[in-house]
Amino acid sequence: MSENPMVPDLSLPEEHGGRALSGVASMSRAVTPDAIDVSHGAILYLEDVTVSFDGFRALNELSLSIDVGELRCIIGPNGAGKTTMMDVITGKTAPDSGKVFLGQTIDLTRMNEPSIARAGIGRKFQKPTVFEQHPVWENLELAMKTDKRWLASLRARLDGSAQARIEETLSLIRLEGEALRPAGELSHGQKQRLEIGMLLMQQPALLLLDEPAAGMTDDETMELASLLNHLRGTCSMMVVEHDMEFVAALAGETGKVTVMAEGRVLSDGTLDEVKRDSNVVESYLGR
Ligand code: ADP
Ligand code: MG
Repeated sequence: MSENPMVPDLSLPEEHGGRALSGVASMSRAVTPDAIDVSHGAILYLEDVTVSFDGFRALNELSLSIDVGELRCIIGPNGAGKTTMMDVITGKTAPDSGKVFLGQTIDLTRMNEPSIARAGIGRKFQKPTVFEQHPVWENLELAMKTDKRWLASLRARLDGSAQARIEETLSLIRLEGEALRPAGELSHGQKQRLEIGMLLMQQPALLLLDEPAAGMTDDETMELASLLNHLRGTCSMMVVEHDMEFVAALAGETGKVTVMAEGRVLSDGTLDEVKRDSNVVESYLGR
């Protein structure tokens, strides 16, 4: 750890073996930071996770695993435990029991929210939270500056690389033309894309998106689907969503879709397979 308070602390918490992330190298479109061991293929692994609220099991021995580079859609009725699952992964809620691992070795149940975020998990909540008064590009810059890994690389290198990264992200989220506008003037769909851009500035290994298409127009929804499809390979993603057209656009014919109900996995497979699963038809889609 650095003794100088002006120099950002680049070391990772003990849970990660105290290894430093490679600052500049991790700025390229690496799928996962070195510290995450994905040698067995999984970026996220949940086993028998149970969360109770006053005796009610919001998660009931939930087991689920996401492959590195995968974009997994999660569907399921209200109250199925989807948001609670994200709360557990991000350290907001501690499970009563069960395993939650990032890669092979990082035990998320032993970490707090900030250290989980630093380990590489970004979360998009339903409501966009952008700095309304600030121009769009500055929102991206601010997001970058809150990330210690970026702060270090900013100091280590000329500002040009940061500028290039902001421009690259603006183009990815299709907001080049809005770069100088205050974020508060953007449409709902544009704000959602900006917030995703802000998360991307932090180079997440895994991005969790909870109902990102809620409140969007059909056009905005399809534009978001195309953005997320474009991000494949940049990071792994878990997307909770009700809009079935959006899910179809993300899952395609071969992508895996997980159906949750009553705190556990009811079914998983391609969208066609889960739609034909009689359990799913009874408990969810058929209603
Ligand atoms: P979903 O996101 O799938 O709609 P949630 O994870 O939000 O479902 O909720 C699952 C269940 O857990 C619901 O019955 C909800 O009322 C309950 N629940 C979630 N959070 C809390 C909490 N903090 N306190 C009590 N009950 C909760
Ligand atoms: Mg929810």
